[in-house]
Amino acid sequence: MWFFSKKPKEGIYVFNTKGREKQLFEPVKTGEVRMYTCGPTVYDVAHIGNLRAALFPDIVRRVFEYAGYKVKSVINVTDFGHLAADDETSEDKMTIALRREDLPLTLENMKIVAEKFTQIFLSDMAALNAKPALAYPRASDHVAGMIAYIQMLLDKGYAYKTSDGIYFDTVKFPEYGCLGGSVSAEHSRIGVSEEKHDPRDFSLWKNDDRGWDSPWQKGFPGWHIECVAMATRYLGKSFDIHAGGVDLIPIHHNNEIAEAEAANGKSYARYWLHNEFLTIDGHKVSKSLGNTVSLQQIRDRGIHPVALRYWFLTGHYRSLMNFTWEAVQGAHTALNRAQKMFADLKGTGVVSEAYKKKFDEVIFDDFNTPEAIATLWELLKDSSVEESVKRATVLTFDKVLGLGFGNTRSRMKSSKVSVEEELPEDIQELVKERETARAEKNYARADEIRAAAGAAGYTIEDGPEGPIVKKTTGIDAQ
Ligand code: AMP
Ligand code: ZN
Repeated sequence: MWFFSKKPKEGIYVFNTKGREKQLFEPVKTGEVRMYTCGPTVYDVAHIGNLRAALFPDIVRRVFEYAGYKVKSVINVTDFGHLAADDETSEDKMTIALRREDLPLTLENMKIVAEKFTQIFLSDMAALNAKPALAYPRASDHVAGMIAYIQMLLDKGYAYKTSDGIYFDTVKFPEYGCLGGSVSAEHSRIGVSEEKHDPRDFSLWKNDDRGWDSPWQKGFPGWHIECVAMATRYLGKSFDIHAGGVDLIPIHHNNEIAEAEAANGKSYARYWLHNEFLTIDGHKVSKSLGNTVSLQQIRDRGIHPVALRYWFLTGHYRSLMNFTWEAVQGAHTALNRAQKMFADLKGTGVVSEAYKKKFDEVIFDDFNTPEAIATLWELLKDSSVEESVKRATVLTFDKVLGLGFGNTRSRMKSSKVSVEEELPEDIQELVKERETARAEKNYARADEIRAAAGAAGYTIEDGPEGPIVKKTTGIDAQ
């Protein structure tokens, strides 16, 4: 395929949407990778398409950590509406959520609904063996930062006021649309204020009495400024990687670049990485088609969440993937088999240099996980490799793949995920809650929960890939 054609020699190559080519990764700061990913709008339970997008930064992070970098990964949570949809032509998702829950549209209600789905999202990510990000900032905690940016854009002449709010003046930013795929002037004229100077101009602030106080009228910040405020707050004005789904390229990411670079007079993110979409049975994943699938539904069919992770890895992040139940069931069977083969390996050996070289070549070539999985299988089946060497090599690969080979027992049985199948419900809840607390770096709470589990007769240990839960006496979680 065209995008696999340029083989890297050394270093890590990434496909940069800005420039549309594979480029050698060069960090802004030596030895460090700072990465921001546009996370979910928490208006509902994430569907598997959202989960594919959310898992991508975990792969990127693991690859860079494996290569010896220190990685700071931030994934935001959009927890309030912007009273405009992504393309300003349809309805805001949080508004839809409040109507569904039969709640009046207030900031408090947005927070309540959002927090409920944020917790589900974080526990889904933990079940998929995603390492907790450095932070999951909630947009609602960063409104002051957004207001400061909007003020800066006004002061520098990049923004103007209208009767309904404040707009970014795209004509003042000649590089506007540098990621490509930007909306046509005709498209952006739909449903939009007559007072806009240019059809491509977009909202920075929308006046509305139900919103936040501001130096202007009460209102809601635009969606794009939310990410600029959070990304630069955690990672600095210039950082390395900005990720998100391909749907975010034309509007959201072009707009973020315009806002950040106009305000700061500096380059924003160096590399723009976008994951392709997931379809279900060949169709777009959509509520209106009634074809969304959640992680819970996957569990309900007896499929291990890490099998979903495995299945995601069998597709390249820049390839469309089509979900079918057969495919994910097949992934479950395959992963189970791999884990059994691994569990039979004995001894502590050294890593196979030949296999490591092969693995590194594909994984450093724009995160080619399908080839990495193929290499894993080749190794598992290679009878010429000593057991102890094979074992050490799989464990090394698993630092990137995160498929739970890290425990001596079969991960399918002793992982946090199986915990949900085998432990009493109250203990499952504690484990989930503790994962969330740890993801939020609330270690005091995590310790409290561990103590509570201990009192109930269960120990929780943190393995390399997640918690291992055992009964204090009697048979353990296997
Ligand atoms: P949303 O909650 O709709 O704002 O989407 C959250 C993230 O999921 C965004 O980065 C989207 O690009 C991504 N996303 C939404 N639908 C899909 C899909 N079907 N396949 C892959 N990614 C998706
Ligand atoms: Zn964003």
